[in-house]
Amino acid sequence: MNRRQLFKTAAGLTAATMSYKLISADNDTMQQETDMTNNPIEKLTLSKAEWQARLTPEQYQILRKEGTERPWTSELNDEKRQGIFACAGCDLPLFKSEYKFDSGTGWPSFFDTIENHVETKRDFKLVLPRTEYHCARCGGHHGHVFKDGPEPTGLRYCNNGIALKFIPS
Ligand SMILES: [Zn+2]
Repeated sequence: MNRRQLFKTAAGLTAATMSYKLISADNDTMQQETDMTNNPIEKLTLSKAEWQARLTPEQYQILRKEGTERPWTSELNDEKRQGIFACAGCDLPLFKSEYKFDSGTGWPSFFDTIENHVETKRDFKLVLPRTEYHCARCGGHHGHVFKDGPEPTGLRYCNNGIALKFIPS
């Protein structure tokens, strides 16, 4: 690969990450674009059989089929240690422990995400549209984001616990 081809590849990766954080409450757009140029997330694409081999049936239903776990079933609800919450599908860190808060909903909840690592899309499964979010690397579904979270973002990322793995620091 020569220098020109290398540049074209890098530009393509950057474009692929541009949909990041569509509902972000952050005004610092220029800074985000600069960071994305330096830190593009490389996509992980696996076949259905490969995902089924990698995930439990419950994880597959959530991450690859946009399922929702029953509330109060995840032990991560009560996880209060310092550390990182990573995607159970591909290990990409999605949330820091300092973003976690007690929402009282029965699902692990966060008011922010690790920059560039979470992407959103509109979800019209219910009558009122919701904003779905997923891992920027593997595309695995994690939950929905609502605008009733605490400061400083005002956002509530309502996450399926089974889609996460906690890595204590
Ligand atoms: Zn992932």
